[in-house]
Amino acid sequence: ASTESKKALVSVSDKTGLADLAKGLAEAGYEIVSTGGSAKAIEAAGVPVKSVDQLTGFPEMLDGRVKTLHPGVHGGILARRDLQEHMDALDQHSLALIDVVVVNLYPFRQTVTAEQAPSYETAVENIDIGGPAMLRAAAKNHQHVTVVVDPSDYSTLLDALKSGKDDLDFRKRLAWKAYQHTATYDSTVAEWMWSQIGGAGPPPEMSVPMRQVSGLRYGENPHQPAAFYSDLSLAEVGRGGIAGSVQHHGKEMSYNNYLDGDAAYTAVSDIPQPACVVVKHTNPCGAATREDLLEAYRLAVRADPISAFGGIVAFNRTVDEELAAEIREFRSPTDNETRMFYEIVIAPGYTPEGLAKLKGKSKTLRILEAPLRAPSGRSLRQVAGGWLYQEADSLKPEEIEFTPVSETQPTEQQLEDLKFAWRIVKHVKSNAITVAKDGRLLGMGSGQPNRVKSTEIALEKAADEAKGSVLASDAFFPFSWNDSVEKACQAGVAAIAHPGGSMRDQDVIDCCNKYGVALVTTGHRHFRH
Ligand code: 5GP
Repeated sequence: ASTESKKALVSVSDKTGLADLAKGLAEAGYEIVSTGGSAKAIEAAGVPVKSVDQLTGFPEMLDGRVKTLHPGVHGGILARRDLQEHMDALDQHSLALIDVVVVNLYPFRQTVTAEQAPSYETAVENIDIGGPAMLRAAAKNHQHVTVVVDPSDYSTLLDALKSGKDDLDFRKRLAWKAYQHTATYDSTVAEWMWSQIGGAGPPPEMSVPMRQVSGLRYGENPHQPAAFYSDLSLAEVGRGGIAGSVQHHGKEMSYNNYLDGDAAYTAVSDIPQPACVVVKHTNPCGAATREDLLEAYRLAVRADPISAFGGIVAFNRTVDEELAAEIREFRSPTDNETRMFYEIVIAPGYTPEGLAKLKGKSKTLRILEAPLRAPSGRSLRQVAGGWLYQEADSLKPEEIEFTPVSETQPTEQQLEDLKFAWRIVKHVKSNAITVAKDGRLLGMGSGQPNRVKSTEIALEKAADEAKGSVLASDAFFPFSWNDSVEKACQAGVAAIAHPGGSMRDQDVIDCCNKYGVALVTTGHRHFRH
């Protein structure tokens, strides 16, 4: 076996870069062996190629299900060159060594996520069998064999082969990549199988394929190493949001930027009307809907300009030049000297003029463009030694009943405002209280361990504007007298929404009746921890 020229086995579904790879391998002195479609493409590039059946003496069969699953392939890949018995065994069976394996797999993910969903049979036929077997075999024998799975590694491979730098470290790294790839591949197949079993709900076992999008300078604090990964699972395909964003401008994204950017974009994506949401430390501190996005922006920042300073500004419509100019020049409503500073502006689109104008705001402003976030999917959170799974909270005000339970009925406008306040309260950390009027947030209280405090904070921010406003609470009010509800009534809030369902519901109703405030129950809560 050792006297023959070195062999490279090439079997790829994605033919990107194949011609150059084949030329390079031939130049480096490799004899190329290949499967049907790949061999055709290599031949067409004018590079000599042998077919796998010439190597194995066995034809491709069963519609391609069996192409390379043969000792002529796997013996040649797996033989230990440092063991005489292995070399003798190959000779005994007239098998040749295979030194380089280049494989990428049937595009299973693309097949099952295609807009035109494939039939079950088509999906099954797109499960690659021989490819992963070769990748795993070559990766196992990385002491002697070089395995490449990613077309972006072709040029590195050729450089290494030509310069003799294909050392063990190089091969180990490629082997790692091959196993990572087959693991991801099989977890995609497993996830799809689960979806086909009718096993809706949390699967008893799962692995989530992830790919590093970027290394981050550090995590929440400078002493914490960090990186950002995109979720490659089918559960995330096409859901939009921060992982699929394009950065047009500005400083590199940080760990906290991703967290806050995600919170802002998820919230604004949840609003059907044109809207702006401003987030600070994962909580919406400003939000407004207006037909005119520019007006929505102004109102959103005014809700709490101090918090908005250094915050994330998210839009759910295209940012045009006029709006960009306003973002660029907008001065703090509390201090007319200072132009507002933001970490990120994120939107589903920018006009070319809008983008150009916004870039002029500062060198550092991160300008992101991303598809809006679809309102469902799965949510995974880490706890020590495990993960918590839940379906994302995709419940919308349109899907629930706002039932008046007080003597005073809410007006049409108040009901609209309650729905808006309700939409925002869902995105605020519990205990969450929002105060709103005319489609804009006036104040919010978040993350307090007691609801009274959250209410006080929200009312304090709303200040005089609390009069005639509406208030939403993410969970029911457990008491009433002298606490949240009474404080809200006394501040002039005109309508309140809470889930209801407390043993003290009647106290809450009585309190609202005493002040002539409209109270509605929603029957659903929006805890967010
Ligand atoms: P080609 O386009 O060259 O005909 O096929 C290349 C694809 O076939 C690669 O994605 C490779 O992973 C896959 N492949 C190679 N050998 C086998 C096999 O024995 N069975 C199956 N199902 N797929 C294989």
